[in-house]
Amino acid sequence: MLMWFPSPYPDELFYSVLCRYYLSSGIKEHYLVKKQLFGTKAGVKMATLYPNAAVHAVLSQLPEGVFDGRDMILHHTPFLYYARMHPQQEREVLLDDLLQGRSKTPTHLWRTFPKGDYALRYCPLCIQEDTKIYGEAYYHVEHQIPLSSVCVRHRCRLKQITIDNPRLALNNKFYPLSTMETDREPDMDVTAAELQVSELVREYWRLPASVSPPACNNLYQTLLNSGYRTIVRQTGLNIDRAKLYTALCGYHEAEVVKKIFGENISGTMMNRIKTWEQLLPDRYILIQAMLDLPTKTVFDPEPIWDNLREKIGRMAKQGGFCTLRQVAGELRLKQYEVNAILRYYDMDPFWREVPAGKSQTARKGILRCTVDEAELERIRQYSQGLGYHCAGAFALDCMRYVMEKAELSRR
Ligand SMILES: [Zn+2]
Repeated sequence: MLMWFPSPYPDELFYSVLCRYYLSSGIKEHYLVKKQLFGTKAGVKMATLYPNAAVHAVLSQLPEGVFDGRDMILHHTPFLYYARMHPQQEREVLLDDLLQGRSKTPTHLWRTFPKGDYALRYCPLCIQEDTKIYGEAYYHVEHQIPLSSVCVRHRCRLKQITIDNPRLALNNKFYPLSTMETDREPDMDVTAAELQVSELVREYWRLPASVSPPACNNLYQTLLNSGYRTIVRQTGLNIDRAKLYTALCGYHEAEVVKKIFGENISGTMMNRIKTWEQLLPDRYILIQAMLDLPTKTVFDPEPIWDNLREKIGRMAKQGGFCTLRQVAGELRLKQYEVNAILRYYDMDPFWREVPAGKSQTARKGILRCTVDEAELERIRQYSQGLGYHCAGAFALDCMRYVMEKAELSRR
């Protein structure tokens, strides 16, 4: 049983608290301190980004009620960042597994974790500030999430501690930040996009544990509204993925985009983004930063407006005499595109069905009207513009329209 354990500082990483325990224990041998902390589970990896059984192992060595495991996982590990895009119920299951010491890293995260020489990171100005306030420096949770490159508080670039074979080393030994050789010179040369991405990472991590993606996808809708829309015959509306990829490379460093999305955005990837099935927040965050969309809007259960649907809905409601060609002209779209959109929105056509050509059925009745040449020309032009093959067909349809309206109002 551990008799004493340090209280975590604000936003302190769980591993950092372990390091401070090590420091204050006065014991030099790392394995002995690991044994004290984890008991029979002394072989546990204690510095992974996604929390594991280490939290449960330490807390079960402490007298009951000293620390709240839930609080430790939510506020002292990046758990909420990595579980943010899960439905709330699934997140609770993941959390419960960790609290019970059954740790399973969600498989979608395995591939995305940084490998090689990625080590813990720090901000030189946070070190100064923390040392002043708390008497020692410590690792902050939000600095460790790989997508983040800037300390949001001080707007300077994060730096990485120097150790050999960091992944192995950090899991086996304690490297308290206050004992590490650190670069004290802040590097303020950061881009607006980098800062913005780091701010979003922090927001995704800090949102209340109950917040998950809503039923609507306002991020996707904003893409549609912002000119990344293409219209496809079969599926209706889609995102122009090549255009989006190019725009992302223009906004962020092309290298960053390549690291997060790969060489391009595949159709499957875009679908997973649209349906929130993409579980790592990184891709959403890069798109969101470029669109300058607030996190509140992304997680808002209220759908934002759809500018195309709004426009087409207004036209449908207005009613009156109109043809498909006219609607397409007003929307500056092709006729097949308007049809595809209507299918996508599950709306009924609200225009006159223009006959394709001269009717084959024998027509005996003849209707004549006399007009002067100027007016005839005007009628011809008008009927052509609306898509009628001749002025007579247009005239006939106008009369039908008036009669249909009259019948409708009589009902
Ligand atoms: Zn800082």
